Amino acid sequence: MRVRREPPRFRHVKLRRVQRVGPRLVRVTLSGPDLESFTVDQPAASVRLLLPSPPGRELVMPTWNGNEFLMADGRRPTIRTFTPRRADAEALELDVEIVTHGEGSASAWAEAAEPGHPAAISGPGRGYTIDPEAPAFLLAGDETAIPAISQLLEALPTDTPVQVRIEVAHPEGRVPMPDHRGATVEWCDLRPGASPGDALVAAVGATDLAPGTRVWVAGEAAAVQRIRRHLFGDRRLVRSQATVRGYWKHGRSGDSEDA
Ligand SMILES: Cc1cc2nc3c(=O)[nH]c(=O)nc-3n(C[C@H](O)[C@H](O)[C@H](O)COP(=O)(O)OP(=O)(O)OC[C@H]3O[C@@H](n4cnc5c(N)ncnc54)[C@H](O)[C@@H]3O)c2cc1C
Repeated sequence: MRVRREPPRFRHVKLRRVQRVGPRLVRVTLSGPDLESFTVDQPAASVRLLLPSPPGRELVMPTWNGNEFLMADGRRPTIRTFTPRRADAEALELDVEIVTHGEGSASAWAEAAEPGHPAAISGPGRGYTIDPEAPAFLLAGDETAIPAISQLLEALPTDTPVQVRIEVAHPEGRVPMPDHRGATVEWCDLRPGASPGDALVAAVGATDLAPGTRVWVAGEAAAVQRIRRHLFGDRRLVRSQATVRGYWKHGRSGDSEDA
């Protein structure tokens, strides 16, 4: 068995507030004394959220076996990765925004979320380092990337041009994005029957990139792989100028962190 370094400890939290950001996006505010000293320094970072399984049950903590977390009965715990949208160490609060995409434990948990529900979080994992000298940015992603793209818009220099491309699986996936003076936001609808990411791949392919533009992309794993090939193969982009992250895998439970 492969032995890996144990991830950061899980912190117990309780759901404090639930807010619909849009018909397909739920903001949950998690809180609790365990969040003391929990800070996030970079945009587009990650946290791992441990949820009760099956949903509605009490939260049972898994143990690390040297390679993965397992429950006492050998089952895999429900752990999913999200963007720490707002961390407030003083108020002991952390917001995550969860796409309610129809199937999946986290999606169902967010749909049914009520104050008092238990969960646990671990992290944060690495985020994105902004180059303040970059001449322009392209931020592209699907609905799961909306929290990260929102943070990036809040953090990027206000005078730098930013092109934003967001694919929505349903038109109601559109949500208000933070204002950024240099940003143009283009929403791309996924056509019925198309594969996740098809509209995003087309949108990125159709975007003009000024020399030196920094690119940040996140979404479905196979789609971002196509975008990676396009950027580094067809466009010969310098690798250090693009960050491309798989956030989930079509047809497979659990997140896909392949970047
Ligand atoms: C670094 C990082 C940051 C992330 N940040 C966020 C975030 O802020 N908000 C967020 O909502 N997600 C985010 N994700 C993606 C999230 O972890 C996955 O979408 C996860 O699979 C959702 O778990 P689930 O239990 O709802 O579905 P799962 O049980 O994992 O999957 C069930 C089924 O649903 C499909 N599926 C999963 N996600 C979607 C989706 N979005 N649309 C359509 N089908 C889907 C799967 O392919 C599978 O067939 C992030 C992932 C990473 C790696």
